[in-house]
Amino acid sequence: MVGSVAVGGDAPVTVQSMTTTKTADVDATLAQIYALAGAGADIVRITCNDVAAAQGIAEMVPRSPVPLIADIHFQYKLALGAIEAGVAGLRLNPGNIRKEDHIKQVARAARDAGIPIRIGVNAGSLDKDLLEKHGSATPEALVESAMLEARYLEEVDFYDIKISVKHSNVPRMIDSYRLLSRTSDYPLHLGVTEAGPPPGGLIKSVAGIATLLSEGIGNTIRFSLTADPVEEAKAGRQLLEYLGLRERSDLDLVACPSCGRAEVDVIDVANRVNAALEGSGLPIQVAVMGCVVNGPGEAREADIGIAAGRGRGHLFIKGQVVRVVPEGAMVEALIDEAIALHEEGAEARLAKADVTAADLAEETRIELLGIQGDVNDTVIRRATVADVATKDT
Ligand code: SF4
Repeated sequence: MVGSVAVGGDAPVTVQSMTTTKTADVDATLAQIYALAGAGADIVRITCNDVAAAQGIAEMVPRSPVPLIADIHFQYKLALGAIEAGVAGLRLNPGNIRKEDHIKQVARAARDAGIPIRIGVNAGSLDKDLLEKHGSATPEALVESAMLEARYLEEVDFYDIKISVKHSNVPRMIDSYRLLSRTSDYPLHLGVTEAGPPPGGLIKSVAGIATLLSEGIGNTIRFSLTADPVEEAKAGRQLLEYLGLRERSDLDLVACPSCGRAEVDVIDVANRVNAALEGSGLPIQVAVMGCVVNGPGEAREADIGIAAGRGRGHLFIKGQVVRVVPEGAMVEALIDEAIALHEEGAEARLAKADVTAADLAEETRIELLGIQGDVNDTVIRRATVADVATKDT
């Protein structure tokens, strides 16, 4: 347990993020912790780099909405201070606290306080001896560093351990965790370290973390982005929801990529819908489709959607057109319907559908097909296939 959050075993994969404020600035840090929790972080890590930071943590612990983990580098006494301040967990970097006696002192104090320790190995700050032995920060070097640290902890009867072996190189990060998962049964915290700003940082993080999660490896995750940490908390949460590892907690917007058939500026409509509904806490899938020719059918899995055509917006629920509105009012209509759908449920909203809407949508669809042509030439293609399939040779 990290505070109230279960980690490992059958517990859901959880999202971590880290504050960027000075920890000693209690108000600013607490405000960021609340923002991170609101964006989907289950656990927040804060740096504990001086005595003022440890004192700040003591003030924040009772006021934080999520468990706090103190990040410790170099000074083991600050770990003792953070434990005294009431943190829910520690992260120790084996490359930066190297004296066995210091590590064991911290482990005894954590054991007595009943809090876990994450052994956070980082390729960029690997123990110099291991770096020399392995030549570079190889998966073997990272795992050896982690297991050496774990042994120190185990020697003082401390087993409440989680491990990470982060690397900024995605294939090496993946290989390191694969090796670690074969070597140890402790829960693992996943991350691509120093991933950089979005979109590259997001892509690297997803590539590494999702690959491992799909193999059943990993218990907590963090996107280490060079961006507002709210972005990394949000991305972490979204990744878990998109992978089906956590229940949907907010909007899932699906939108067509647009094409020559589009009857509306799909990018603009999608952005407006996203701005209006993201963060609303409505756990629904909303589709924005550029044309009524293909839109409602292709997005029939979505809870609700809108498809444009001939100056109108066609509002659909589970693929069934329920209302037709002027194009200028389609975004507002979609938002209103999304809220109503969440409150009343799909059946109730379908029962209130405008009975003429589906016919009107079909008329528009046929009209557009007449103007734009059926790109698949379905009727002609079917006839040709039947012809070939039945012809005597
Ligand atoms: S829904 Fe219509 S506009 Fe969007 S990609 Fe498909 S055919 Fe093109």
